[in-house]
Amino acid sequence: MERLFEETVLVLGGAGFIGQMLVPYLLAAGYRVRVMVRGPAAALASIQNDRLEIVRGDILNETDLEAAFRNVASVVHLAHVWGSTWNEFWRNNVEPTRKIGELCIVHNVRRLVFAGTIDSYYAGSNAGTITEKTPFDRNLKRRNYYARSKAAAEQILTEMYKQQQLPLVIVRPGIVIGPGGTPFHGAVGRFSGDLCEVWGEGTNALPLVLVSDVAAAMVRALQVDGIEGESFNLIDRPLLTARDYLDELQKQTGKPLKVVHRPIWKFFLADLIKWFVKAATRHSDRARMPYYYDWESRTQKAAFNSDHARVRLGWQPASNRQRLVDEGIGSAVRYWRSSPRRGAGTRIENLETRPAGSLFEADVAIIGGGAAGLTIAREFMNTGVDVLILESGLDGESPVHAELDRLEWLNDPKREASLNFRRTFHQKSMPWFDPDVQPYGVRCRGLGGSTACWGGKSATFDDIDFAKRDWVPNSGWPFSRASLEPYIERAAEVLNLGPNIYDEKLWPLIGKNIKRPRLDSTKLRSFFWQFARSRLVAVSVMNLANEFRAQRADNVRTLINATVVHVDTNTEGDRVTGLEISTIDGAKSHVRAKVFVLAAGGIENARILLNSNRQQKNGLGNTYDNVGRYLMDHPGGRIGYFKKSDVKRARYLGFYSIVPKNDSIMYMHGLALSPAVQARMKLLNTAVYVLPEISPRDPFGAVKRLLTFQTTNLGGDLWLLVCSLPLLAKGFAIKLFYSPVFPERLKRKTVNLLMAINPGFVVREFLSMRVPHRLDRMGVHVIVEQPPDRENCLVLSESTDALGMRRVTAHWRISANERRSVAAIGQFLHDELPKAGMPAPAIDEWIMQDRPDDAVLVDMAHIFGTTRMSDDPRTGVVDSQGKVHGVGNLFVAGSSIFPTSGHANPTLMILSLAIRQADEIKRRFFADTYCGAEQPQDLRKAFSSVE
Ligand SMILES: Cc1cc2nc3c(=O)[nH]c(=O)nc-3n(C[C@H](O)[C@H](O)[C@H](O)COP(=O)(O)OP(=O)(O)OC[C@H]3O[C@@H](n4cnc5c(N)ncnc54)[C@H](O)[C@@H]3O)c2cc1C
Repeated sequence: MERLFEETVLVLGGAGFIGQMLVPYLLAAGYRVRVMVRGPAAALASIQNDRLEIVRGDILNETDLEAAFRNVASVVHLAHVWGSTWNEFWRNNVEPTRKIGELCIVHNVRRLVFAGTIDSYYAGSNAGTITEKTPFDRNLKRRNYYARSKAAAEQILTEMYKQQQLPLVIVRPGIVIGPGGTPFHGAVGRFSGDLCEVWGEGTNALPLVLVSDVAAAMVRALQVDGIEGESFNLIDRPLLTARDYLDELQKQTGKPLKVVHRPIWKFFLADLIKWFVKAATRHSDRARMPYYYDWESRTQKAAFNSDHARVRLGWQPASNRQRLVDEGIGSAVRYWRSSPRRGAGTRIENLETRPAGSLFEADVAIIGGGAAGLTIAREFMNTGVDVLILESGLDGESPVHAELDRLEWLNDPKREASLNFRRTFHQKSMPWFDPDVQPYGVRCRGLGGSTACWGGKSATFDDIDFAKRDWVPNSGWPFSRASLEPYIERAAEVLNLGPNIYDEKLWPLIGKNIKRPRLDSTKLRSFFWQFARSRLVAVSVMNLANEFRAQRADNVRTLINATVVHVDTNTEGDRVTGLEISTIDGAKSHVRAKVFVLAAGGIENARILLNSNRQQKNGLGNTYDNVGRYLMDHPGGRIGYFKKSDVKRARYLGFYSIVPKNDSIMYMHGLALSPAVQARMKLLNTAVYVLPEISPRDPFGAVKRLLTFQTTNLGGDLWLLVCSLPLLAKGFAIKLFYSPVFPERLKRKTVNLLMAINPGFVVREFLSMRVPHRLDRMGVHVIVEQPPDRENCLVLSESTDALGMRRVTAHWRISANERRSVAAIGQFLHDELPKAGMPAPAIDEWIMQDRPDDAVLVDMAHIFGTTRMSDDPRTGVVDSQGKVHGVGNLFVAGSSIFPTSGHANPTLMILSLAIRQADEIKRRFFADTYCGAEQPQDLRKAFSSVE
């Protein structure tokens, strides 16, 4: 033992899962330990021991390695660097291992313990019993690169042992579980969100081993004399199947999983398809053809015999089912829960589970878990500030909670026509637009808010939207767009967007040789929107709740089914003292916090303030009768179309893609009124874009008519089906693609590829809603700014909701200004496109015949202005930071604070302002506590670890 105190063991890869456990074991055994780490070794930070030395370095860097080897007696090599091609695995792992072996010889190291893997064996149903004498899979070249690179490294080291007496001992741990590792182990199944696809039936016992037992075996591998050149498989007794493991995991996390036992051939088939795509696109990783036995090996049906380790090393693993469960799964779950940014999950609790009358305390209470609320919460993640999100709805849709949103709508003279348009257009692709349920102010009540149902269309406002314009009464923001730039960048990062460019400056990035017609730029300008893609689901736009749920931050708690029914203040009304919250069943509780953020959406922000009238008779923040006023939306509608024969020539308007990093980003190109023409003709900011439309010869329509016995032309409809067989086959293929059979990662890659090749195709398929619709014309759609008008407003109505809160009536009128601006852009399209060599769209008669009263325009679920921002309390509810005038600790977030609406969809701007507000709250209230929250660039890392 005395000798050991002088020995230094170098651990390469010591900050990893096994390393974290091994280091204390080595220290306990009396060694000095030097750990070489590439980044901050947070996992080792808690170890206070002067025999532990942590040095920075990379195994890919020979100088780092040379330095780390100084005065080292033994080495444990656990390091592994992932790559995506075999060349990368070779360069990152096999070559450095050779170097490590050479250094061990040069430095006369007493022992090198190398961690191989049992994955290098074939372990499927035909494997029988595996011992150290069993040869590796004879088709290693076709196995996964991890297994192959570990085997290659072993082979090189073994040669060195034979030729140069390298004092080598190899250990091959089984499926290692325990604290520090992910409980969602890839050897048990493929985890993706709540889904776990088990490798096959999952009824055979798995070759599991506790990480502490692996560490103990490694210490023995350093200590036992005369075992050079030997290898040891480290597997405990077969005690748990994949099914047992998943049952225990669900118990420990309290989170149900959707467990699917997927036959191996399906994984293989998907891999094969993926390989075909790679081969077709000459992908750099096309060399490895999929290998059925590689997939089948994951079932781990082989029996492993670890007698050699037990006898030669004196190794005594747990061999106890309960310990495997407690330490392997329970401790792993607890560790994973307690460590920031590790795997998925934030604390979400239903208020219903707490007794009525509970008191919740936090530093920051956020009312509403939608786009704005979750973004602010995210900015506080992993800081010393305790954040509580109060979300009225559940973690998913709930009609009972949605009923709380019901309101009345007055004033639009075109009510019937616009409801019909909504029925025939919006509702087709987005059921939330059903006018019988939400005739106005469409939104979603539930975690994620309206990002659970939004279209992901993102753009920033223009400079002109921030300016005071003499032709737009009440216009002008208290700051410029330029000052928002850094926040827009951070918001774009959260939304997984591509380059933040929305005008003609994007063309060079699109990079293709696109013929750009010369339009009169004094009238029309290019405008782009981009689509926020989910990082988690390949074929979906981003739902902020999903991304939020997948993040880990113990300082952020969420209460769902917690509707804020009243904001309490002191008698002076200058401080919020607490919140009254209620479950949908009426069980009330209370919240106390230092700062409150109202982020309940454009309608509810005003409604909550107006309803909070116990201390302030007219409602909170409403001294100057501004709450609920200046209600705006984006009037929008279809104003024409391009004929089928013109669609190709009109393609300049349509969809483009950019591949900034790994993911393709979809952009939509439209046209907007130039700032010059807006000023000259006193118009509002207005834009148009095109969307493919379903053909009258749509076979799906025929199927529907036939099935509902509504066909008026039986022969015609049947013939249409016969002529559309290829389309129906395509529909079937698309359905298959969307089904869970198709692995998520392959889906993402396929969508990326398709987007890069033909973004229009992807859009058409998306709009087809996974059924074989035939599309032909392209509709021309408009979206227009609405000027802030005091008379457009929300007022409390006499009726109340289930929780006793008064509902609101929306007085929302589209004025002549909006119609005039829409007519102007329609007329410009008609006149200017042909001059530039493009086809003229057929523009609606009301524009061509100057009958603005016949315009059918609807609201677009973009509510603005009801708690507007102004530095002057007489003209606004909140100041330029979104703090309610006269109330020291209440902020409002979301588009209700926007003084004007621009024409761009609001969410990117909502997030930008929310991030700006989070910074302000930190600065004002938590300057002492706030100690380095995640910087924006870390967010992507956090998300990528989730993926
Ligand atoms: C169908 C649809 C499509 C859309 N498409 C787009 C698009 O493509 N691009 C775009 O930019 N925007 C789009 N939007 C708008 C966008 O979704 C919203 O602007 C954005 O979500 C607003 O963010 P928010 O946080 O202010 O409100 P929300 O996201 O609506 O979140 C508010 C949250 O507060 C909760 N809440 C309400 N009342 C209470 C209460 N009393 N107590 C506690 N919690 C409460 C709600 O349940 C909700 O979760 C779309 C909206 C809809 C409905």
